[in-house]
Amino acid sequence: DTLVNQIAAGEVIERPAAAIKELVENSLDAGSRNIDVVMRDGGRSYISVTDDGCGMSVEGLSLCIERHATSKLPSDDLVHIETLGFRGEALPSIGAVARLQITSRETGSEDAWAIKVEGGVLHDPQPAACNAGTRVEIRDLFFATPARLKFLKAARTEVSHAEDVLKRLAMAHPQVGFSLSDEKRTILRLPANSGDLFEVRLKRLSSVMAREFEENALPISAEREYLKLSGYIGLPTLNRGNAQHQYLFVNGRPVKDRLLQGAVRGAYQDFLARDRHPLLALFLELPSEMVDVNVHPAKTEVRFRDAALVRGLIVGACKHALAEAGH
Ligand code: ADP
Ligand code: MG
Repeated sequence: DTLVNQIAAGEVIERPAAAIKELVENSLDAGSRNIDVVMRDGGRSYISVTDDGCGMSVEGLSLCIERHATSKLPSDDLVHIETLGFRGEALPSIGAVARLQITSRETGSEDAWAIKVEGGVLHDPQPAACNAGTRVEIRDLFFATPARLKFLKAARTEVSHAEDVLKRLAMAHPQVGFSLSDEKRTILRLPANSGDLFEVRLKRLSSVMAREFEENALPISAEREYLKLSGYIGLPTLNRGNAQHQYLFVNGRPVKDRLLQGAVRGAYQDFLARDRHPLLALFLELPSEMVDVNVHPAKTEVRFRDAALVRGLIVGACKHALAEAGH
């Protein structure tokens, strides 16, 4: 089973940022209000993710590191997936290639427990001390798979990948507080916001992308057939030399899709030179059967049933908002 888990780990956990993504998604699924991430040595020697979510009982702790022991599988089918995780693969995969320790205290319980898995070898749960919530610690990532270890880049590069992952998750969850630090300093700090999702969204988007975004963004709200689009687009005057700050979220998940850049280019073509790119973040909601987000476990690619419809909606909604604003 360790071998199966190591193979799965190669698929799911390709670098520290991928492990962090899985852990933070678990923290979000657990209803956390604050999530703190620490990386040492670019994540190679140490990663921790601490949350104040629902926590796990001692039974839950023992279960969560077993393969396919997700608490999130919908009973009927795999199509209607509400939570971020659903495969029950992340923790066993990490446990197969690293030294994994999970410390948790369930909401309403007095007792905290810790469990350890090292290179696939499971240790019994031990009583521990912990605030309500969960701390997952990963030491010596890929020590059990040296081939994979060789692919790790400089610490700075690994940290910036993790930062990118966290920023995207933070934009999709503007009420939740996030922090990322390494051994020396805080790299990212986004405080929790209270209020309605739509009220706090612009604030969070601006703290991630650029302060000026808050004053230079137009709200988007459009529907077409089964599609619902919301978010904010920057005025043409606020632009960059690359498309780094163009974000798309599908059913609350950050995704990377080339469709977005093309659609944005189409919408702004009358206002911006080809080499200039506006800042924007769009949130698309659609029935889960109209999109495949399950293309690859480690990637955030999507495949739309009707890409032309999605593109048309994005172009139309952006053009409309720009025209309303006098462009
Ligand atoms: P999945 O997220 O696909 O269910 P994981 O391997 O990522 O699979 O996690 C396994 C299980 O462990 C989850 O279903 C959840 O019950 C539990 N779990 C993991 N992380 C946390 C956390 N931070 N807080 C509470 N429960 C957690
Ligand atoms: Mg998960």
